[in-house]
Amino acid sequence: MDAQEFREFGKEVIDLLADYVENIRDRDVLPSVDPGYLQKMLPEEPPEEPEHWKEIIKDFNDAIMPGITHWHSPQFHAFYPTGNSYASIVGNILSDGLAVVGFSWMASPACTELEVITMNWLGKLLGLPEEFLNCSSGPGGGVIQGSASEATLVGLLVAKDKTIRMHQKDNPDLDGDMFKPKLVAYTSDQCNSSVEKAGLLGSMKMRLLKADSDGRLRGDTLAKAMEEDRAQGLIPCYVVANLGTTGTCAFDPLDELGPVCSEANVWLHVDAAYAGAAFMCPEYRHLMKDIEYADSIVVNAHKWMPVNFDCSAMWVKNGYDIMRAFDVQRIYLDDMKNNMKIPDYRHWQMPLGRRFRSLKLWTVMRIYGAEGLRKHIRTQISLALHFAKLVRADDRFLVEPEPCMGLVCFRLKDGDMITKQLLDNLTKKKKVFMVAGSFRTRYVIRFVICSRLTTENDVNYSWSKIKEEADIIYADKV
Ligand code: PLP
Repeated sequence: MDAQEFREFGKEVIDLLADYVENIRDRDVLPSVDPGYLQKMLPEEPPEEPEHWKEIIKDFNDAIMPGITHWHSPQFHAFYPTGNSYASIVGNILSDGLAVVGFSWMASPACTELEVITMNWLGKLLGLPEEFLNCSSGPGGGVIQGSASEATLVGLLVAKDKTIRMHQKDNPDLDGDMFKPKLVAYTSDQCNSSVEKAGLLGSMKMRLLKADSDGRLRGDTLAKAMEEDRAQGLIPCYVVANLGTTGTCAFDPLDELGPVCSEANVWLHVDAAYAGAAFMCPEYRHLMKDIEYADSIVVNAHKWMPVNFDCSAMWVKNGYDIMRAFDVQRIYLDDMKNNMKIPDYRHWQMPLGRRFRSLKLWTVMRIYGAEGLRKHIRTQISLALHFAKLVRADDRFLVEPEPCMGLVCFRLKDGDMITKQLLDNLTKKKKVFMVAGSFRTRYVIRFVICSRLTTENDVNYSWSKIKEEADIIYADKV
């Protein structure tokens, strides 16, 4: 493929994607294919001869598109949002076009420096305390990880390293490895699966402590668990607090968990993967009260900001902790010798290689502006409240718990079975996509405003489909 063909192919693809977005409402949100459908459509062997790009576009439309779940359909209300915007796609194209690998400053100075700048911008936009920012006088700073899962695992590995060093200092005659099996991590039973997985991957026992009836991990529960473990000779090491749980968007009280961690000298990581973006709006910042206690924080720009996957923003209060844990030297990897202001990001993450991800964060923040980003959050929250109002007006339904951010959990008052039937039937019809959750042991349906394209009319449409299905179920019962 030469430059001329690249221009033609690229322009055709931009048109294709713009048409896709503009006409997305014409499609069912869920695909109508069976498992293995694509294997039947595509050849078993790669092509021997070069093919023309037009053939690829044709196969994309004929074979790939039918197997797509349309995450940006206004009727996609499942999981949590994944970011998408034209500004971000263009940022990604620029990054792919340059195709640099920015593991050190030297490997591409702009790649490192734009990440430092955009992470400072974003940190300020979210109202994070200055100590987490690279532009403060301290050793804090931000880094873009591929996912919140990675950020949580990075936090765990750094906490492990730090705790072992601490214990070795107190016991210089002992081998640091003997402390490893004694380390314990804590989070709530409402945590995202990725938090539990971090324990598995990092070989650390992860205790899922019982949250209160509102889904919040309380300080006394954490303190008691640590006390029990210490009594058995174990060593509390890492705590993951959740600001916006995946199930019901509950917020753990940092003003309770923070002092417990601080007193025990335990690393506190804050998982605000979804809801953290709301801190751009000052009216939601009370939900991160006492964030100063945290050692690390993750907010997925690729969730509730219009930034395409992957762009997981992580800040640490002390970059030296992370560099000490992950610093492996080689003669061919010349670096900045622990210069905190211009970090060599390979010491801040698990892989060596890294993409120029800050470009899309930069294009998004500039094209939207802070006001545009805040408007995105506020619009989505007001659409969720609109949906809750529609549900509450129908006395067969119950909204529970109180809607939070862009999430509304609801159920039929007649019980779990019928609520599940409603969700199953809706999923089969493919017009509206939601997934289940649970609240106080009851089965609930989670309705999340996900697509940036969703309007009040779209929410009304989704609700009309839900109501229609409930009518059918109740009609069949009589
Ligand atoms: N934490 C929370 C609260 C989430 O809701 C999710 C995903 O929905 C994650 C972590 C995992 O995010 P990622 O896919 O970036 O690892």
